[in-house]
Amino acid sequence: MAWRSSGATNEALIENLYQNGLITSERVKNAMKGVDRAHYAPSAPYQDSPQSIGHRATISAPHMHASAAESLLPYLRPGAKVLDVGSGSGYLTHVLAELVKPGGKVVGVEHIQALVDLGRRNTGKSAEGRELLESGALEYHKADGRLGWPAEAPYDAIHVGAAAAGHQEALIEQLRSPGRLFIPVEEAYMQHIYVVDKDENGKVTKKKEYGVQYVPLTDAPTED
Ligand code: SAH
Repeated sequence: MAWRSSGATNEALIENLYQNGLITSERVKNAMKGVDRAHYAPSAPYQDSPQSIGHRATISAPHMHASAAESLLPYLRPGAKVLDVGSGSGYLTHVLAELVKPGGKVVGVEHIQALVDLGRRNTGKSAEGRELLESGALEYHKADGRLGWPAEAPYDAIHVGAAAAGHQEALIEQLRSPGRLFIPVEEAYMQHIYVVDKDENGKVTKKKEYGVQYVPLTDAPTED
């Protein structure tokens, strides 16, 4: 149960996720300890639950961020290139950037300008985050993430933080061989995580995992 992992500090939250088996790798544990969730969640940052960040977006629960990072981990090596679609608060974007240090690069794509600015501002709250932004190892861009970010393709790993209305060919196209895509997909009013692997020969396999509840991956709101 999600709430069992909540803590009084960032360190306690991450340690509890680890004790409860929601984080299993030391690398993910250390990367999440290195990014203070208080810089990204507007309230109750050390609670293991999603929170509103405005603009109908939410920062996902810590156990979901952990699950995504663990799933992509074999592709998150130093020097790897990563795309985070629907970067929202910027929390996972920053954690991913920590996991591909040194020499790696993470691109966060978000279709609401205010959230592009929010992600950048949140990342700038720590010295490590500022260093990532200044060195170009972490970039935020405003774009329709369904189209990926072709300028930096191919990607070793792609994370999608919003539920897609179907499989996204443009994203699969932008995966390296080998590479992995973590994406929530909507099917018959349900959402499931799919892990899409492209092997070294370019062969694609899609594995359906657990049921989830994400904000939808949509057209940008017209007022923006
Ligand atoms: N990983 C983020 C999730 C934010 S919620 C976090 O934990 O903070 C999902 C985000 O996807 C929202 O910010 C929403 O604005 C964004 N989004 C939805 N459709 C999109 C699209 N087509 N292109 C880019 N971003 C999109």
